[in-house]
Amino acid sequence: MGKVTGFMEYERLDEGYEPVPARLKNYKEFVIALNADQAKQQGARCMDCGTPFCNNGCPVNNVIPDFNDLVYRGQPQDWQNAITVLHSTNNFPEFTGRICPAPCEAACTLNVNDDAVGIKSIEHAIIDRAWAEGWVKPQAAAVKSGKRVAVVGSGPAGLAAAQQLARVGHEVTVFEKNDRVGGLLRYGIPDFKMEKSHIDRRVQQMEAEGVIFRTGVLVASLGEDSKVTNWAKETVSAEDLKAQFDAVLLCGGAEQSRDLPVPGRDLAGVHFAMEFLPQQNKVNAGDKLKGQLRADGKHVIVIGGGDTGSDCVGTSNRHGAKSVTQFELMPRPPEEEDRPLTWPYWPYKLRTSSSHEEGCEREFAIATKEFIGEKGKVTGVKTVRVEWQGGKMVEVPGSEQVLKADLVLLAMGFVSPVSPVLEAFGVSRDARGNAKAGTEALGGYATNVDKVFAAGDMRRGQSLVVWAIREGRQAARAVDEYLTGASVLPR
Ligand SMILES: Cc1cc2nc3c(=O)[nH]c(=O)nc-3n(C[C@H](O)[C@H](O)[C@H](O)COP(=O)(O)OP(=O)(O)OC[C@H]3O[C@@H](n4cnc5c(N)ncnc54)[C@H](O)[C@@H]3O)c2cc1C
Ligand code: SF4
Repeated sequence: MGKVTGFMEYERLDEGYEPVPARLKNYKEFVIALNADQAKQQGARCMDCGTPFCNNGCPVNNVIPDFNDLVYRGQPQDWQNAITVLHSTNNFPEFTGRICPAPCEAACTLNVNDDAVGIKSIEHAIIDRAWAEGWVKPQAAAVKSGKRVAVVGSGPAGLAAAQQLARVGHEVTVFEKNDRVGGLLRYGIPDFKMEKSHIDRRVQQMEAEGVIFRTGVLVASLGEDSKVTNWAKETVSAEDLKAQFDAVLLCGGAEQSRDLPVPGRDLAGVHFAMEFLPQQNKVNAGDKLKGQLRADGKHVIVIGGGDTGSDCVGTSNRHGAKSVTQFELMPRPPEEEDRPLTWPYWPYKLRTSSSHEEGCEREFAIATKEFIGEKGKVTGVKTVRVEWQGGKMVEVPGSEQVLKADLVLLAMGFVSPVSPVLEAFGVSRDARGNAKAGTEALGGYATNVDKVFAAGDMRRGQSLVVWAIREGRQAARAVDEYLTGASVLPR
């Protein structure tokens, strides 16, 4: 523990944001990271708890008190040690330092009756400095195992697994149906939350470590052509992968969006969020798209109150929407959590994202009954207020109204993996439709099919980047054990 009285002397300092008018003009990141002095002071707030709840609250179990202390000490060697500590549990802190909701901070002991240590902002400062100083280097394996592993899907789970497996000497090929690597980091999460150069830099590092990336390649059943996606140019069969590789790890995500099958669903102008968001990411990457789905001058209604919905709000405002309204079925949560009740768990409270702050009406306890249209195009949404009685949702009589809408974006979450890749391998699904495989204690990510493993959203269902990284790392260890009988990879 660097400074014994730090938590009493210093207030929490959050990262800053560029002003709204400036950031709405482009799709660039707008968070102003802590400088070294600010990070040092924030590190000094850490109490180095005997039982560091932050470490348990973090899905990758980052060794948080140690890097807080190193940043507090502040010498260049301390910062270099801090990135070593951070990388020991997390392959990609630049992703989580930007877009993780930080369950570690909810679990921080200071959060019981004060403001939590700003762990995420310290993580952000450490990894950005490490890249700037040239401390992040490829770590190619000294000895090759002669074993070949196919990873299907290049989201955070696939990337973390591929990097871990390459570093212990396996020859890893990542198959990705999209034209670029990154999964939802690339084609989902907007650039203003995370610029894509962070992925490109890691891809270069991984290529230097020996990982082979094959983009535009759909892994599917024999004979199935690649029309199932817009971008895949080529198909590889599950049979070929099983024949050519010693192990296959499925990290295909959970891409099947939840639909809203009410009257008018087929009107033009009603789209899934995942038709809207990836197009803007492609345009930002310099691609020319014919007929991009845009929100300019439109009344936009976003249905779904989560992260994806919030990303639609931010993107619509950057397009220049006339109005943006977001619906949430559940009632408005309290502004502040009940800390004694919820700590150290993820608290139930109102969350206002930077996109909400940029301009958005938020409607709670509202359900959509119908999409109204003229000449085949959506013009409005018929809604009703809802209440929860005895755990059941009931409509409030007489509360129906019609709101204007030229564009409706459905952002109600994801139900299961979309592509037929599980069937192609003969992998059983669980009750929710995800790949059936246990975690470390329960079968080590192995599916019912010999040499086939599954991890990330494809196994656990829609989740978070940090959980995908955890699963990718743990699945890599399971695959390594399967291939060699033992593993030096961390759990
Ligand atoms: C709009 C949006 C915003 C989000 N914001 C956040 C956030 O701020 N913070 C956060 O922590 N999480 C966020 N998430 C969730 C997070 O992105 C996911 O939990 C995470 O990316 C899951 O990682 P994954 O590697 O399991 O799968 P994915 O990232 O979904 O990657 C799966 C990859 O597999 C590929 N694939 C699938 N099938 C095949 C096949 N048959 N052949 C070849 N390739 C295939 C897909 O094309 C895809 O690239 C967000 C999600 C969305 C949709
Ligand atoms: S719980 Fe908070 S105060 Fe305690 S070690 Fe973790 S970051 Fe530091």
